[in-house]
Amino acid sequence: MAKAHKYIFVVGGVMSGVGKGVATSSLALLLEARGFKVSPIKIDPYLNVDAGTMNPTEHGEVFVLNSGLETDQDMGSYERFLGRALNSENYMTGGLVYKTVIDRERALGYEGKCVEPVPHIPEEVIRRIVVAGENEKSDVTIIEIGGTLGEYQSVMFLEAARLLKIAHPDDVLFVLVSYLPVPGKLGEMKTKPTQYAVRTMNSYGVQPDIIVARGEVPPDKKRKEKIASSSGMKPEQVISAPDVDSVYDVPLNFEADHLAETVMKILQLKTRKRTPFLSPWKSFVRTTKKTTGEVRIGVVGKYFTTGDFVLADSYLSVIEAIKYAAYKNGKKPVIEWLAAEEFEPSTGAGRGGNKVNMRPSGERGSTETSRSNVAKLKKFDGIIVPGGFGKRGIKGKLRVIEYARTHKIPYFGLCYGMQLMVVEYARNVLRLKEANTTEIDRETKHPVIDIMTDQKKKLAAEEYGGSMRLGSYPAYLKERTIARSAYKAEMIHERHRHRYEVNPQYVAELEKAGLLFSGISPDKKLMEIAELPHAKHPFFLGTQFHPEFTARPLDSHPLFDAFVRAAIKKKK
Ligand code: GLN
Repeated sequence: MAKAHKYIFVVGGVMSGVGKGVATSSLALLLEARGFKVSPIKIDPYLNVDAGTMNPTEHGEVFVLNSGLETDQDMGSYERFLGRALNSENYMTGGLVYKTVIDRERALGYEGKCVEPVPHIPEEVIRRIVVAGENEKSDVTIIEIGGTLGEYQSVMFLEAARLLKIAHPDDVLFVLVSYLPVPGKLGEMKTKPTQYAVRTMNSYGVQPDIIVARGEVPPDKKRKEKIASSSGMKPEQVISAPDVDSVYDVPLNFEADHLAETVMKILQLKTRKRTPFLSPWKSFVRTTKKTTGEVRIGVVGKYFTTGDFVLADSYLSVIEAIKYAAYKNGKKPVIEWLAAEEFEPSTGAGRGGNKVNMRPSGERGSTETSRSNVAKLKKFDGIIVPGGFGKRGIKGKLRVIEYARTHKIPYFGLCYGMQLMVVEYARNVLRLKEANTTEIDRETKHPVIDIMTDQKKKLAAEEYGGSMRLGSYPAYLKERTIARSAYKAEMIHERHRHRYEVNPQYVAELEKAGLLFSGISPDKKLMEIAELPHAKHPFFLGTQFHPEFTARPLDSHPLFDAFVRAAIKKKK
């Protein structure tokens, strides 16, 4: 282990969903601004080996790394705040850690010893944390432990943190992200839940060095003092983190409350740059507040509702990518969720998902009551159909795509949104009425989207986990296309997550009918981007990959940028 390497553990108290991911990303940014290389790590305590097998409505978006690892949306937040790609080592789940230990045991890796949860699980956690820091040659590693203090499954990870602290007392720091409620009837901020969270943390043998006090409003001086004294800290170790309009304000709020300086003082770190180089971030935040007019984008999906809640989290990277492009073009993004089923013809799509995919547990039959609502799409400047799986909502999505194509509304299809764009084109322009993806109809007469050859075996063997075409692949862009002029490059690399592809047998026919495959794999076998030429439509483009995963606040994605520009133009 490098000698002065520093480790910061971020844990959550009181309740979930208060923004540990954003707090972790923001602290990483503030330390990088001072000249340190920071490796952020996300630990998800659950037993899934990766995030790929979870329904987005249960767990939020599945964020894919360059390596192809399917991870948690917080990894996306880290990449966006730091402006760079992260490695597989920066993510682990409880399942992955246990699996590694058990596999090692089966290979006699413990040489006949009794293998026990403690110490072998925490030891493996520490090994992974150290490797991640070494791979990135970082100075500081920030480890966010998912979940909330007191949950049984986090115990092994807190134990790893405790052991690391014992081995390196001066180099390990704990941040507790807590919540301070202001109960409506009382009208005053309460610190007691945070005090209990600290005590719970103490019961694991660890003590917070910093408390990030989340709440509707910042804690006042008296409350900061109270939290500090009851937790054995100084008031400056309690950092205000009130609700904000935009997560991008958080680093600046932390900076105003001297978070990075306090962390550095405790870890005995000396600033490597005289003034924190935060100006690019500050000017980005300025663009988010200085917009003239808006651009209205409709996102047609199906992972929006869980019970009474709308979970924009399912499409988090898509939303952020739209925002960056809108801000870059001086517009306020207005994003509206549209449930695909609303646009289905009255018969609905019928019951039952298809069996061939990853069987998201939330898959339900169509609502069967919805009237076609396509006319309300008129009010949008642009429409996106993002990634998805299975049958539910498909008829609605196809109607939306047809409407966007025939009414010249800028359309951007992401993965499934591209595949369905090809299905729509085949049905309505090529007049192949039965054209479909074999994901929905295995026996279709015209499988314009078909399962990839190597995927067939995997599905037959019921190998669903981590088995799609995943991660970053190169693509070549044809000259004089919308894609090429957006990227201003001949070769691109983008991240994928799919099992199906455009069927090569239909490419010539589709191209003859006017659909252009402007991005293709270097071996020319896979169609990675489909578009209609400018003369036929202002912007009708779909990507087999997920451009949203590489959009960054300080570096908006070229295709989202081109799409938003087309949307703004349509508005005029
Ligand atoms: N369901 C499609 C496939 O597996 C699209 C996947 C996606 O949108 N990520 O190919």
